[in-house]
Amino acid sequence: MSIRPIVKYGHPALHSPSAPVTRIDREIAALVDDMVATMYAAPGIGLAAPQIAVPLRVIVIDLSVGEDRGQLIKLVNPEIVEKEGEQRHEEGCLSVPGYGATPLRPARVTVRGLDLEGNERVYTATELLARAFCHEIDHVDGLLFVDRLSPLKRDLLKRKLRKRARNDDWEE
Ligand SMILES: [Zn+2]
Repeated sequence: MSIRPIVKYGHPALHSPSAPVTRIDREIAALVDDMVATMYAAPGIGLAAPQIAVPLRVIVIDLSVGEDRGQLIKLVNPEIVEKEGEQRHEEGCLSVPGYGATPLRPARVTVRGLDLEGNERVYTATELLARAFCHEIDHVDGLLFVDRLSPLKRDLLKRKLRKRARNDDWEE
């Protein structure tokens, strides 16, 4: 298990859709272990494989950041199958350090995916967990929270981020 570097805004893996996992094998299990270690080390409440430059549809979420392993979710090929309502709260992203924004998210989502044994798992989530699922599933679709803002806010923020990405200057 190792902590991998988290790639930042501007890295191609973050800006195009990731491929579905076709076989859940030891390599995928090892990838997930690394993702969990990387998420806890950051620390963060969620991580998607493209954030460590692996363009596969795999996400991990733990709202307790390792305090309660019962909250750890590892999901392969996740998809939102139902959503309703709206919520808007501050979000940040390990790949966009130093920036926060309040994208519009569904109030409630139903998410389907596979666990590491290949069994189907279905989660219904509200509040922070719903936002975390949407944020991480956006990552495997090649979207960042920045892409979910109003055009005016998005353009302002993207201009700043592009400058930072050019200078590779992500220290806070
Ligand atoms: Zn993120």
